[in-house]
Amino acid sequence: MSFKTDINSRKQSLIKLLNCVQVHEQEIITALYADFKKPEFEAVVSETGYVISELKHTINNIHKWAKPQKVLPSLLNFPSTDSIFKEPYGKVLIIAPWNYPYQLSLYPVIAAVAAGNQVVLKPSELTPNTSKVVAKIIKETFDKKHVDCIEGNHEVATELLAQRWDYIFFTGSVAVGKIVAQAAAKNLTPVTLELGGKNPCIIDETANLKLAAKRIVWGKFLNAGQTCIAPDYLLVSKKVKADFVALLKSEIANAYGNNPEASKDFARIINGKNWKRLALMLKEEKILAGGEINESSFYIAPTLVDEPKLDSLVMKDEIFGPILPILSYSNESDLAKVISNYEKPLSMFVFTQNKSFADKMIRSYSFGGGCINDTVIHFSNSRLPFGGVGHSGIGAYHGRRSFDTFSHHKAIVKKGNWIDIPIRYAPYEGKLKILRRLLKWLS
Ligand code: NAD
Repeated sequence: MSFKTDINSRKQSLIKLLNCVQVHEQEIITALYADFKKPEFEAVVSETGYVISELKHTINNIHKWAKPQKVLPSLLNFPSTDSIFKEPYGKVLIIAPWNYPYQLSLYPVIAAVAAGNQVVLKPSELTPNTSKVVAKIIKETFDKKHVDCIEGNHEVATELLAQRWDYIFFTGSVAVGKIVAQAAAKNLTPVTLELGGKNPCIIDETANLKLAAKRIVWGKFLNAGQTCIAPDYLLVSKKVKADFVALLKSEIANAYGNNPEASKDFARIINGKNWKRLALMLKEEKILAGGEINESSFYIAPTLVDEPKLDSLVMKDEIFGPILPILSYSNESDLAKVISNYEKPLSMFVFTQNKSFADKMIRSYSFGGGCINDTVIHFSNSRLPFGGVGHSGIGAYHGRRSFDTFSHHKAIVKKGNWIDIPIRYAPYEGKLKILRRLLKWLS
């Protein structure tokens, strides 16, 4: 049985969590800065603010979401009332990544608690300051048997995955996602996998280029490019490429000054391993802007790379850093050659004023979600499902969808006793004709 199934007590737990996260907000902001110099503005806009608004949204809607949902009954079952009951899965394991270490830990915890589950959260070992505050918040809010936070590295995660869970919610890389899926398969445990990918961003010749440059620079270099849904590479119409590159350069300077290393609004790479991986990508590429690196502070400048080959390091895998390759295209088959070269991405963005082109691009490619004429902001509407497809993930969450993700949907038919239509019962002789006529009438 689940720890708490009563909706009012779940709501009280969430109200307690809301008070606690508000009390510790400044501590989280300080921890995020200590972990990778995340600017305070970005910490509020993409971490603490999100968590607070998701908590309020969940608290306000929990009764509505938890209520059995009535659906139209099938006439074949007449007389009946049919409903879907939302049942907690039971014991839930949540494994979180480091890039939005606060938000991506607490978002699923909020939903799992709202849906009535017991939870174990394992935050990332790469952001130890933030993980410590997250663990403190969990400890201050919940009974350990209800929600526990276990800090540690991949070995701890491996031990946790070896146990039996009723649901596993994982956010992280594709490679580890496959390990999680294998571990879950042993007990047929359902999973949500929130993974990554190589996200294309198309700019056609009709786009509002200045605004597009501004929005791309913001979405790409936020969190120093360490955002799963950030544009990974640009596909720019050949007709406007030169103008667009000039605009991107000036928007980078507007945002971070001529020396982004001195800007307090630009974060750092999480660790030496990732810094080296990214620094290596810049070797042998034509740099259009940026390119400066500093290992002692894990700094990599916002960098534009010109026309890299598809088999180059920068185009092989997800970049996950402040490096933006710019490829140009002449026609839609050029676009298809590049985009179809990769697994289905987590997001895609199209900058255009041509509605039918935007519509065609959205329908032509499979990807988790995205925007027309902006980047990354689809994440922030809790009425939109957030998740990947294919290699970028399984399942989705946010808002009501999160509650549903952490609930088993139990289908119940409540049959009336005042009449009992006899046709279904054996002996069947003479009833097949009536059945066929009935089925025809119902279809
Ligand atoms: P990661 O896969 O290396 O680590 C994620 C979590 O898994 C961490 O808690 C880590 O301790 C654990 N882990 C690592 N190795 C493991 C193993 N062998 N067995 C079990 N657990 C293990 O990912 P990361 O570097 O923290 O995050 C970056 C990746 O996450 C990127 O690919 C990014 O696109 C993706 N991401 C996706 C989303 C999303 O919502 N779809 C959000 C953020 C990040």
